[in-house]
Amino acid sequence: MNILGTIKGQEKAVNYLRNSARKKRVANAYLFVGPDGTGKSTVARGFLAELFCQGSESGKTACGACPNCRRISENAHPDIKWITQEGTARIGIDEIKEIREFLSLKPYESRYSAVVIDNAHQMTQESSNALLKVLEEPPGDSLIILLTNRKEWLLPTIISRAAEVRFSPVGKDDIIDIVMGKLGIEKAEAEFLSSYSGGSPGTAILMAGEDLELKRKALRSVTAEILKKGDPSLAVWPEEDRTNLIQQMDHLLILIRDIAYKKLSLDEYIIEKGVLSEDMAECTEKYSIDRIYGMITKLIALKRAVEGNVNPKLVSSVLPGEVFG
Ligand SMILES: [Zn+2]
Repeated sequence: MNILGTIKGQEKAVNYLRNSARKKRVANAYLFVGPDGTGKSTVARGFLAELFCQGSESGKTACGACPNCRRISENAHPDIKWITQEGTARIGIDEIKEIREFLSLKPYESRYSAVVIDNAHQMTQESSNALLKVLEEPPGDSLIILLTNRKEWLLPTIISRAAEVRFSPVGKDDIIDIVMGKLGIEKAEAEFLSSYSGGSPGTAILMAGEDLELKRKALRSVTAEILKKGDPSLAVWPEEDRTNLIQQMDHLLILIRDIAYKKLSLDEYIIEKGVLSEDMAECTEKYSIDRIYGMITKLIALKRAVEGNVNPKLVSSVLPGEVFG
């Protein structure tokens, strides 16, 4: 199967890369920028297949069946190296040294030696500088693809040496198609996942592996805590675990978004229709739509802070007052 042909919702990125491959106008480095789960690594794999495929006639797309295409699908091609760090672990100097060595060798059997660095923003200062040196004098047959959802954390000098390819959040209907196709689930469930996923098919698919009933319960408990006080800015919300807090903030974002939809009479977009509808109606009365947008902005800023390593306990203690106060 042609990998790029399976991508939905990123036509611009896919067309651009297909054209570069077809015209053999390939940059030494690419920077794929976009939210998690929007297809950056799949598109990287698909782009490499376009470049490495042995089966297709020139000017055609990758065949998806030759040994190169197959090994790329399985992450097992000897001329391609993937650097992937778990969670928030940093990418250290040793990884970059490995990359430099790998790229300095002639490719075993292909035209290129390629390296994909996932979560490239997790490079340390030292490793960023080392990578910059590689980008400044790239070995002839080398190709580097950086993937990130935090472009602003990368050195400007790295950004300027890579061709940027943007990945946008994927539309609701495309996500429904993708998760139904991949997981063979009912449309209603796919709709729920899609609304919850923030435009990221990857998130929707990950969530499908979780207990959705548990997820709904968690959403209800966060909602209940915020709404029961009458004045949500007085809610008490101690949370010491970063991952839990980020999930709860996602739930809260959904709740606030639902309140906005309710206010705008866009009931069909409300995710948790059954959740505490009376309390929600009260909130709808209380806040103007401008105010609700302000809350969303504040909440997103706080979420970024937690993701960027600000202490979760501190953030959760100020959160109700900051967002609702
Ligand atoms: Zn092929």
